[in-house]
Amino acid sequence: MPTIFTKIINGEIPCFKVAEDENFLAFLDINPNAKGHTLCIPKKEVNKILDLDEETYLGLMSFSRKVGKALEETVDCKRVGMSVIGLEVPHVHVHLIPLNEMKDATFQHKVKLSNEEFVELAGAIGSKIEKLQK
Ligand code: 5GP
Repeated sequence: MPTIFTKIINGEIPCFKVAEDENFLAFLDINPNAKGHTLCIPKKEVNKILDLDEETYLGLMSFSRKVGKALEETVDCKRVGMSVIGLEVPHVHVHLIPLNEMKDATFQHKVKLSNEEFVELAGAIGSKIEKLQK
């Protein structure tokens, strides 16, 4: 059975898309630790990050770096943290989390955002990526 993230890639489940290329997709986490919490995933469905082939692993890191830099310029934070967990969704994903305090990194403190805030954030990060690429 396809993972929930494969369903997002295929457009069967909606997401607040931040960026996409041929091999990777970035979208906002639906239950964010902090405003701007973004997930970067390979379109190839693989459960664990260390099982990715090297090319996809390095591509995911490069894609995540690009998205993370745009996120850092869009959201007020001390830094953007990266983590890989995967205990909930068995499809590789890099969490990019704007951090101000340690609790933002704990996955036990969550923030609620409105639909409008999600739409605005995804658009703002996405357009920052385009600007940084120029
Ligand atoms: P992990 O697998 O790393 O423990 O966490 C999975 C992450 O995916 C969680 O932060 C959770 O909020 C997020 N997530 C789970 N289902 C969905 C979904 O359908 N849409 C989005 N945008 N995020 C999801």
